Amino acid sequence: MSIIPADTARFEATVAVAIVGGGACGLTAALAARDAGVAPLVLEQAPHCQGSSYMSLGALCAAGTTAQLRAGVADDAETFLADILARTGGAADAVAARLIATRAGSVVDWLAERHDVVFEWDAGWRPAFGHSRARLHATAGRSGADMMSRLADACDRAGVDVVTGARVTDLFATGDGTVRGLRVRRPDGSCEDIGCAALVLASCGFGDNPDMIARHIPDMREARYFGWEGNRGDAMRWGAALGGALTHMDAYQGLGLLADPYGIDVNPKLLIEGGIQINARGARFANELDDVSGQGARVMREPGGFSWVVYDERIHRACADLPQYRALLALNARRSGETVAALADAIEVPEAALRQTLAEVAAAQGGRDAFGRRFETPCLAPPLHALRVVGALFHTQGGLAIDPTARVVREDGAALANLFAGGGAAVGISGHGASGYLPGAGLSAAITLGAIAGTEAARCAGDGAPAT
Ligand SMILES: Cc1cc2nc3c(=O)[nH]c(=O)nc-3n(C[C@H](O)[C@H](O)[C@H](O)COP(=O)(O)OP(=O)(O)OC[C@H]3O[C@@H](n4cnc5c(N)ncnc54)[C@H](O)[C@@H]3O)c2cc1C
Repeated sequence: MSIIPADTARFEATVAVAIVGGGACGLTAALAARDAGVAPLVLEQAPHCQGSSYMSLGALCAAGTTAQLRAGVADDAETFLADILARTGGAADAVAARLIATRAGSVVDWLAERHDVVFEWDAGWRPAFGHSRARLHATAGRSGADMMSRLADACDRAGVDVVTGARVTDLFATGDGTVRGLRVRRPDGSCEDIGCAALVLASCGFGDNPDMIARHIPDMREARYFGWEGNRGDAMRWGAALGGALTHMDAYQGLGLLADPYGIDVNPKLLIEGGIQINARGARFANELDDVSGQGARVMREPGGFSWVVYDERIHRACADLPQYRALLALNARRSGETVAALADAIEVPEAALRQTLAEVAAAQGGRDAFGRRFETPCLAPPLHALRVVGALFHTQGGLAIDPTARVVREDGAALANLFAGGGAAVGISGHGASGYLPGAGLSAAITLGAIAGTEAARCAGDGAPAT
């Protein structure tokens, strides 16, 4: 992980735009660079293009999309931006927040129209967790795996060169921070040095780097990391070594909905539809709909560090087509009871406490409960079901500071010559800590900043490409 003086380089080949990382950001950047008239090269260390993008639920937020318009949802960039600022108490990175609020919608439309990667408006995600409008979108398969296979197919159709099993270990750069190329290590230990006119860092965050987590997010150093193995903060280390600024490094996406011990994330739709989370004592401990990310740390603080998502047959039916939920049912992860007593027995919580919790939820229907949650869905009614979940760190949200062209900038705001960053490699829109994360913000940053970085890197590489 070093910067090698460029004058020592002997490149075996040279490309216009090199892209490190083949997740949603890297593949979107490649499509944008291709549209802008250059032939990008994507270098992915793993055997396949997956990343945290593949592990995700595949839901992204975007405002003012054609899909929203068709569904009759009134939304726009300013409303989205206001939601980002409200969620983060005004602490979101101003450049990233404005870029994502204003550009995510057109990037979603461009992917559909130009590359047949269609993100449908997802009716299941009603306004919650800080989104004041229904602005979550997903591809037809409703999973990150489905989204990634569509992006990979689009790259195939566009003739993008993607090399897997290609770990970028070092960059070649001049003293002023201009990147001239990179070194790639192959699984057999051999190395290749490749020159590039512009570089896009799409290698995500530092969730899989315990030292960086301990330094930047000490509260989560004991937390389970449930993101892509291999996202070790390479982008941040290279970017900083080249003079780029790192910002909001304490920000992260947690989740209190990781099915235990199955390692499958439970779709928050179970909660949006009226489900609740209880602890081992049978009691609720928070408003389940106010902080999708901060709920991770809350669950970790409960006795035993776990929680049960309790829901009923109506919610089961509403969620039955979600792929992650189907996978959990296939694994027999669900506990059920025909009566409250039977469920209490099945999940080993005190029956009286569970009864009282359900009575309190019923009493809150149509109003707000003691945690401030508004219950507008029908009352939970037996038969009841439950899934055991734990909290985890999913994804880091801090990263390289960028300008409106997704170019990496120094502390003083001056841009590096030809270095771009997007997705988890760049700063996100979550402010500080856990609670600023809005559902869908990670993938939104991946495709939006990826598209901008790909276009601008192509332009920087000298082909006179138009901006997206
Ligand atoms: C379980 C889970 C569920 C999630 N659900 C959602 C969701 O529904 N909606 C949402 O918006 N966000 C979600 N997120 C967050 C979201 O997945 C990320 O924000 C997003 O995938 C980041 O995209 P990316 O392209 O930047 O990174 P990634 O998809 O992680 O891609 C980075 C790629 O870079 C490669 N790489 C790293 N270093 C190198 C190197 N040195 N050389 C070569 N390759 C390298 C990695 O192998 C990886 O494939 C979820 C995250 C997790 C873990």
